Formats: sequence, structure tokens, C-alpha cells
Amino acid sequence: MKYISTRQKQATNIKTAILKGLADDGGLFMPEYIPQLDSEFFENLPNLSLQEIGFRVAKEFLGESISDENLKEIIDEVLNFEIPAIKISENIYSLELFHGPTMAFKDVGARFMARMMSYFSGGKPMKVIAATSGDTGSAVASGFFGVQGIEVYILYPKGKVSPLQEKQLTTWGGNIKALEIDGTFDDCQALAKQILSDEELNQKFTLTSANSINIARLIPQSFYYFWAFAQLQKLKKPIVFSVPSGNFGNLTAGLFAKKMGLPIHHFVASTNENDVVPKFLETGNYESKPSKQTISNAMDVGNPSNFERMKSLFNNDVSEFKKEIESYSFSDEATKKAMQEVKKDFNYTLDPHGAVAYLGLQALRQAQSDKINEDFVGVLLETAHPAKFVEVVEDVLKEQIEIPEKLEAFNKREKKSVEFPVDFEAVKNYLIQEK
Ligand SMILES: *Cc1c(COP(=O)(O)O)cnc(C)c1O
Repeated sequence: MKYISTRQKQATNIKTAILKGLADDGGLFMPEYIPQLDSEFFENLPNLSLQEIGFRVAKEFLGESISDENLKEIIDEVLNFEIPAIKISENIYSLELFHGPTMAFKDVGARFMARMMSYFSGGKPMKVIAATSGDTGSAVASGFFGVQGIEVYILYPKGKVSPLQEKQLTTWGGNIKALEIDGTFDDCQALAKQILSDEELNQKFTLTSANSINIARLIPQSFYYFWAFAQLQKLKKPIVFSVPSGNFGNLTAGLFAKKMGLPIHHFVASTNENDVVPKFLETGNYESKPSKQTISNAMDVGNPSNFERMKSLFNNDVSEFKKEIESYSFSDEATKKAMQEVKKDFNYTLDPHGAVAYLGLQALRQAQSDKINEDFVGVLLETAHPAKFVEVVEDVLKEQIEIPEKLEAFNKREKKSVEFPVDFEAVKNYLIQEK
């Protein structure tokens, strides 16, 4: 299997695609074609474990670049937590993607990427650079923690992440270094880009980026769409996924799963007020915008990076998008009401991102589109544990929620960070004297 940049027809192998992250032409790597799984796999799906599914799906994308034995070992390590489909009501299920070490769905992608990078780098020393506005950084840190030969530098904006998020970034020690930048997330991202393209640093070190555009984060996110089917196929109803979307990596992975043969009835791309994709589906024009701050802040994205991948999957044709995806945008007010309603009616606590996905299913039910079989089962992807957004959730539900031990443990540890102004030379000198 070759991997091709979305900008040029420039091909490489999976190893280079993963180690580089971004293609030289600025495009994102995509598999040359989406592999197909055979009918035997689908017939047997309800009997397979999450790990068995992960292995079969990953194998299609990785081919002979890794032995079956090594791949199995990596998959078993990555997927060492549950992803249950919890029944909320007669026709609504919550696929809980948050049972990993940092309690956000980004654990799935980050853990797989970390292990694949380590495998392909063959133990050669490497520096991984990641800018974060919160959740990505902690999942990346957790994924790479203790991995031989890899040093991770996380750049985060001082005072602009929640107290718990900061603890999840700064308390690892070992091979994880937190750089606290006195600026915004955009400043962090700009510094990360400068580091990655600096000639002197690239001569001294092997540098790579761990942001959401790496194809190694996308591949494992397709596993759990199959896993949801394995759990829910017995209902014998069409299945719709509602995906709370920011950079649209999660949704793109779902599109991969469908193209591989999984009979997903339809997708709902649910967003907060950052609505470039819903607008695009409505008007056919894609216009990026500055991001707006909302209570589902992991989706505050004004120019979703994976849009480029979706365009390539749909041959740049908006009518092709519309065959697979409905897209709706929701206000914070509507999101809060949904959280209250689901708590009251079904005694289930949604985080703000999951609540946006819930609203997407409601909107689809009301849309009465002839594309949609009305008797569908809606699966919302619950991307974070509500306790990750404890301030918002407690304020909206007017009650205290329990903080899981896994998160409480971060709170007890001591913060360690190195502070910097927004000054590339200062950060560069630090990296050089680091070894
Ligand atoms: C990152 C994130 C999202 C958005 O996922 P994308 O793949 O960027 O669309 C949704 N919810 C949570 C909690 C996240 O951390």
C-alpha cells in the first residue's frame, strides 16, 4: 500500500508517512486506495474482540511493513481499555471512547501513533514536538511516556488550559517535557512549526510532529466503528453515527470504515458554533473562519485540518458528501439543555461534546429526509468523560459529579514545566542544550 499526499501525486510508504506526519508539499497523507474487508470478516464480526478487529483493520493499512506478531502486540497494548456501547434510550446508544488513560478519545489515536513511531524509528533517538490547547497534549504525553529513544516536547499556552488539563500535561517527568509558553495556542503552534522546519535543529536531531494530521492517528479511530457494529448488529436496524467534530479526524476515520465495507447507514457531523462544515454542505462553499470559544472547546476549530482528506475521499464533489453526511451546528445554550434533558429523562451524564452529538441525532430524526430510514439506531460518539469538563458539567446540571481516580491521580502530582516567552530563539537554545 502506498500513501499519497492530498496536494500532489507524490507517493511514499507507511513508515515515511508516519515518521514525517505532514507531506513535503504541505498536504496530508492518504492511503492510495481504501482496502476492502471480505464478507467472511463481516459475517464473523459479532464474534470478534475489539483487539481482533483492530488487528484485521490495521493489517489492511500496514501490509507487510510490520510483522503480524509485532502488530498484534502493539494493538493489544493500545486497546487495553473498554469501549462499550451504552444504551441511553430505545434507539440511542453512547459509544464511550473515554476509558483510556487520559479519559478522552484522543488516547486511541495517540497511543497507536506513539507505538508505530517508536517501531518505525527502530530505537533511533527522536524528538517529538506537539503544540496543544489541552486534550491532544495529554493523550500524546501518555502515549509516548516511557517509550525508549523518544523525547517529547509539549508546548501549551500559559493560563489557557484548565487546571486539570495542565496537570495532565506537566506531571509526567521522564521523557516528557512541558514548555509553558506565555502566549496563545496559535503562538504555540507557530513555534512548533518553526522548530520543525529549522535547518540547524533538523541537522542535529530527528524531529517529528505529533499533531492530529498524522495518518497513524486516523487508522485506529476506524476500529471502534466496526466494534460498535459488533455490539449492535443484533438489533437488526440501520445504524447512524453522530460524530462531535472539530478537526474531523474522527469522522474521516468513520468514512474509512464505511469505504472498507461496513454498512453504516449515515453519518451526522455535529459541530458547535464553529460551523464551516455544516455551512459548506448547505452552500457548497468552504470558508474557513477564526475559531469561536464554546463550552465544547475541543471542537473550537475554524479551519478543520482533515477537511482536505474528506475532499479527496469525495473527489471534491459536495453532492458526494451529501450522500453520506448530514451536518448541523448547535449553540452552547442548546448543548446545555441537551445535557439537562438527557440527565433528567435517562439518568445519563453527557459531557458537552457528547451532548452536541446527541443533538445531531435529534436533528436527524426531525429532518425526515428520504435518504434516512426512520427506524434507525443512533450511536453518539462520547469523546470525553464528563469529569474532564467538571466546571461546565456541574454548573449545567447543578450537581456534583464524581471525579474518577484516574483523573484525581493527576491532581495529586506536582507540576513541572519550563516557561518561555513567545521567542523562537529561546526555545531553540533550550532544545539544543537538552542534548
Ligand atoms: C478532539 C476532540 C473532538 C473532535 O475530534 P476531531 O477528530 O478533531 O473532529 C471531540 N471531542 C473531544 C473531547 C475531543 O478531544
